[in-house]
Amino acid sequence: MHELGVVFHIIDDVTEAGKENGLTSIASVTVRLGTVSGVIPEYLENCWKWAVKRTEILKEAELIIEPIEAVTFCEDCNAEYDTVKYGRICPACCSPNTYLLRGNEFLIEEIAGF
Ligand SMILES: [Zn+2]
Repeated sequence: MHELGVVFHIIDDVTEAGKENGLTSIASVTVRLGTVSGVIPEYLENCWKWAVKRTEILKEAELIIEPIEAVTFCEDCNAEYDTVKYGRICPACCSPNTYLLRGNEFLIEEIAGF
Protein backbone atom coordinates (compact mmCIF):
# COMPACT_ATOMS: atom_id res chain seq x y z
CA MET A 1 0.00 0.00 0.00
CA HIS A 2 1.34 3.39 -1.07
CA GLU A 3 0.01 5.21 2.01
CA LEU A 4 1.81 2.87 4.39
CA GLY A 5 5.13 3.70 2.70
CA VAL A 6 4.32 7.39 3.07
CA VAL A 7 3.55 6.90 6.77
CA PHE A 8 6.85 5.11 7.39
CA HIS A 9 8.62 7.93 5.59
CA ILE A 10 6.95 10.54 7.86
CA ILE A 11 7.73 8.47 10.96
CA ASP A 12 11.42 8.26 9.98
CA ASP A 13 11.66 12.00 9.33
CA VAL A 14 9.80 12.97 12.49
CA THR A 15 11.76 10.55 14.68
CA GLU A 16 14.98 12.04 13.34
CA ALA A 17 13.79 15.63 13.85
CA GLY A 18 12.46 14.78 17.32
CA LYS A 19 15.82 13.36 18.40
CA GLU A 20 17.66 16.40 17.09
CA ASN A 21 15.35 18.68 19.07
CA GLY A 22 15.45 16.58 22.23
CA LEU A 23 11.77 15.61 22.08
CA THR A 24 10.85 12.37 23.81
CA SER A 25 7.29 12.23 22.56
CA ILE A 26 5.44 13.94 19.73
CA ALA A 27 1.92 15.37 20.21
CA SER A 28 1.06 16.03 16.59
CA VAL A 29 2.43 16.11 13.08
CA THR A 30 0.95 18.44 10.47
CA VAL A 31 1.35 17.54 6.81
CA ARG A 32 0.31 19.45 3.71
CA LEU A 33 -1.20 17.17 1.13
CA GLY A 34 -2.04 18.11 -2.45
CA THR A 35 -5.40 16.83 -3.66
CA VAL A 36 -3.79 15.16 -6.70
CA SER A 37 -0.69 13.86 -4.91
CA GLY A 38 -2.06 10.31 -5.16
CA VAL A 39 -2.23 9.89 -1.39
CA ILE A 40 -5.73 9.35 0.04
CA PRO A 41 -6.17 11.15 3.39
CA GLU A 42 -8.46 8.47 4.89
CA TYR A 43 -5.99 5.68 4.06
CA LEU A 44 -3.14 7.81 5.36
CA GLU A 45 -4.92 8.28 8.70
CA ASN A 46 -5.68 4.56 9.02
CA CYS A 47 -2.07 3.61 8.27
CA TRP A 48 -0.90 6.29 10.69
CA LYS A 49 -2.97 4.89 13.58
CA TRP A 50 -1.62 1.43 12.91
CA ALA A 51 2.02 2.41 12.48
CA VAL A 52 2.54 4.93 15.32
CA LYS A 53 1.53 2.36 17.96
CA ARG A 54 4.66 0.47 16.99
CA THR A 55 6.97 3.42 17.68
CA GLU A 56 8.23 4.96 20.94
CA ILE A 57 8.32 8.66 20.19
CA LEU A 58 5.10 8.86 18.11
CA LYS A 59 2.81 6.62 20.15
CA GLU A 60 0.38 9.42 21.05
CA ALA A 61 0.93 11.55 17.97
CA GLU A 62 -2.04 12.88 16.05
CA LEU A 63 -1.82 13.34 12.29
CA ILE A 64 -3.19 16.65 11.00
CA ILE A 65 -3.71 16.86 7.25
CA GLU A 66 -3.97 20.25 5.54
CA PRO A 67 -5.19 19.84 1.98
CA ILE A 68 -3.74 21.86 -0.90
CA GLU A 69 -6.31 22.32 -3.67
CA ALA A 70 -4.98 21.36 -7.09
CA VAL A 71 -4.78 24.15 -9.69
CA THR A 72 -3.83 23.78 -13.36
CA PHE A 73 -2.53 26.57 -15.60
CA CYS A 74 -3.41 26.85 -19.32
CA GLU A 75 -0.51 28.01 -21.52
CA ASP A 76 -2.82 29.06 -24.35
CA CYS A 77 -5.25 31.37 -22.53
CA ASN A 78 -3.47 31.83 -19.15
CA ALA A 79 -6.48 30.54 -17.24
CA GLU A 80 -6.06 28.86 -13.87
CA TYR A 81 -8.64 26.22 -13.07
CA ASP A 82 -9.65 23.41 -10.72
CA THR A 83 -7.65 20.30 -11.68
CA VAL A 84 -9.88 17.84 -9.84
CA LYS A 85 -12.95 19.09 -11.71
CA TYR A 86 -11.53 19.55 -15.24
CA GLY A 87 -8.39 17.43 -15.52
CA ARG A 88 -5.84 18.24 -18.24
CA ILE A 89 -8.13 20.02 -20.70
CA CYS A 90 -8.67 23.76 -20.14
CA PRO A 91 -12.39 24.47 -19.54
CA ALA A 92 -12.02 28.01 -20.96
CA CYS A 93 -10.44 27.25 -24.37
CA CYS A 94 -10.34 23.40 -24.57
CA SER A 95 -6.55 23.43 -24.93
CA PRO A 96 -4.54 20.44 -23.72
CA ASN A 97 -1.44 22.67 -23.26
CA THR A 98 -1.75 22.82 -19.51
CA TYR A 99 0.39 22.07 -16.50
CA LEU A 100 -0.18 21.57 -12.79
CA LEU A 101 0.59 24.70 -10.72
CA ARG A 102 0.04 23.08 -7.34
CA GLY A 103 -1.69 20.11 -5.76
CA ASN A 104 1.03 17.49 -6.06
CA GLU A 105 2.72 18.42 -2.78
CA PHE A 106 3.44 16.26 0.16
CA LEU A 107 5.24 18.15 2.93
CA ILE A 108 5.77 17.83 6.65
CA GLU A 109 4.69 21.25 7.84
CA GLU A 110 5.00 21.10 11.61
CA ILE A 111 5.99 18.76 14.42
CA ALA A 112 4.69 19.52 17.91
CA GLY A 113 6.07 17.94 21.07
CA PHE A 114 4.25 17.64 24.39
ZN1 LIG B 1 -7.16 27.71 -21.90
